[in-house]
Amino acid sequence: MNNDGSPIPIRGADAIARFVNTVGGWLLVFFGGLGLLSAVGHAIERPGALGITLFMGFVWMLLLTVGLVVTPRGRERLARRGTPSEFGTAHRVDERTIRTARSFQCVSCDTDHQQGLERRFTAMFVVAGIRVVTLHENANRYCPTCALTEHSVKTGDSTAPARTREY
Ligand SMILES: [Zn+2]
Repeated sequence: MNNDGSPIPIRGADAIARFVNTVGGWLLVFFGGLGLLSAVGHAIERPGALGITLFMGFVWMLLLTVGLVVTPRGRERLARRGTPSEFGTAHRVDERTIRTARSFQCVSCDTDHQQGLERRFTAMFVVAGIRVVTLHENANRYCPTCALTEHSVKTGDSTAPARTREY
């Protein structure tokens, strides 16, 4: 808490970290891609030095991959990954507490609320447990009461981001 009693701006710090990861990640992707292109160009110009070109191509490919993984989107994909043996269509259910400016209707009791729990169902195509394409997405919103009675085990989920557990 600050002296004036206003809450510590966790969101701000979070946004900065996210921004740094995004910029850093995409810089790596950019230079990795550029290096890969130059390696390909090198291979066309001097077919004799294939070994070195392959090695350089591999190094740039590695940079590109690291860049993709570091970006928040890439990390979210990895964080949500299933088992490495998972291939084909997969389903995920994500829960998060929500607070909305406009009220929403609880799918269970039909009353209007501005905060509650959102359950997001996602059907996706995965390769080695990592999402490649989202096939279908649907979200249900519950009021706090219904969320507690219907999902009493899951609402205390400690893996939820800290900023979504404000109340
Ligand atoms: Zn309800």
